[in-house]
Amino acid sequence: MTEFIIVGRGLAACTLMHVFTSTGVSFKVIGKENMSRCSQVAGGIWNPVVFKRLTKSWMADELVPCLTNFYNECESRLQTTFVTRRKIIKPFVEEQEKELWRKKSKNELDDYLDPTIYDSDEGPANCKIENGFGLVLGSGSIDMNAFLEATSSFFRNEMVDEEFLYAKLKLIEGGVEYEGIKAKHLIFCEGYLVKNNPYFKWIPLKPAKGEVLKVKVNDLDLGHQILTKAAFIMGIKEGQYRVGATYEWNELNEEPTEKARLDLETKLKGILKTEYKVIGHEAGVRPSSCDRRPILGPHPLHPNLFIFNGLGTKGVMLAPYFAKNFVNFYLQKEALQATVHVSRFYHLYGRT
Ligand SMILES: Cc1cc2nc3c(=O)[nH]c(=O)nc-3n(C[C@H](O)[C@H](O)[C@H](O)COP(=O)(O)OP(=O)(O)OC[C@H]3O[C@@H](n4cnc5c(N)ncnc54)[C@H](O)[C@@H]3O)c2cc1C
Repeated sequence: MTEFIIVGRGLAACTLMHVFTSTGVSFKVIGKENMSRCSQVAGGIWNPVVFKRLTKSWMADELVPCLTNFYNECESRLQTTFVTRRKIIKPFVEEQEKELWRKKSKNELDDYLDPTIYDSDEGPANCKIENGFGLVLGSGSIDMNAFLEATSSFFRNEMVDEEFLYAKLKLIEGGVEYEGIKAKHLIFCEGYLVKNNPYFKWIPLKPAKGEVLKVKVNDLDLGHQILTKAAFIMGIKEGQYRVGATYEWNELNEEPTEKARLDLETKLKGILKTEYKVIGHEAGVRPSSCDRRPILGPHPLHPNLFIFNGLGTKGVMLAPYFAKNFVNFYLQKEALQATVHVSRFYHLYGRT
């Protein structure tokens, strides 16, 4: 009997596959790639700084070292590269932002903010930077499609490429059974589609649709840097850039919209002094939770069923740390962290 069935094919599921492999936990995967395209369309950026109040992102000091070790390990296992270290260019609007930046770069954010205040003309050509800029350190991105595709290919012998039908799941003595596959446990990683899951549809997600553009810009060279104003722009290959992202809480589908395209183009015009051409437009739905923390742990009544969800806007940073927390919990080496434990929502079970 295998130890786990993993349901899903996105970032959460793929991260678990690697962490299970590293710790010798056996698994099978049942997942269909395109039922939710959230992980595929993501920018893949990690940023340890929250710009709104210039504060440290939640648990950045623990998450950043964990994610860099984890994705580097995956690169070695998969024999491919998908991690890029990138500084983030943050243009200033007002003078007092520079003072705050200087102050924080000397204490609370000393690992993540370059203390230098750069002049506008030191920035990339053809970008509208009028009042100087700062640089975020310790940030970067992963090429999500490269990571997901290489992971699916590496674990193809463990993978059943089909929709998981909840009605076919049997809870048996000492475990679960699905279409002849017996396992001691099953962990659901369906992103926002957990709303279809009869065992876990009560977890309080607040999903947010997001859209991104792919654009061609000839006279721009950001190198490995990301520039962020009202939107971010990041190079993906020669002359091509990704621009994102929007937030929408009502229309929860994966259809790209005219409204989001116009919004992103308006923001892009606020960044570029040069012409661009839109060559791609995609949408996905982020599985954000109502308290903006991941959701991890066992079902209140069925101890063989688990969930790993709620990665929201920061899956790249959160997934490695909490997949490891989950495996250590399974191997009885540590407790699940209380802030992410699904038990904080057990009072909602049975109400829907
Ligand atoms: C526009 C946009 C930009 C983003 N940018 C960033 C970013 O820069 N940095 C960052 O950290 N995060 C970003 N995110 C968020 C990030 O994408 C998510 O945190 C993460 O991808 C969530 O992964 P997941 O595996 O939980 O969910 P999903 O990616 O939704 O994966 C769920 C998987 O389960 C499969 N599935 C679901 N139900 C079934 C079923 N019944 N049977 C079989 N398979 C099933 C789906 O097809 C899918 O493969 C962005 C998101 C969007 C939409």
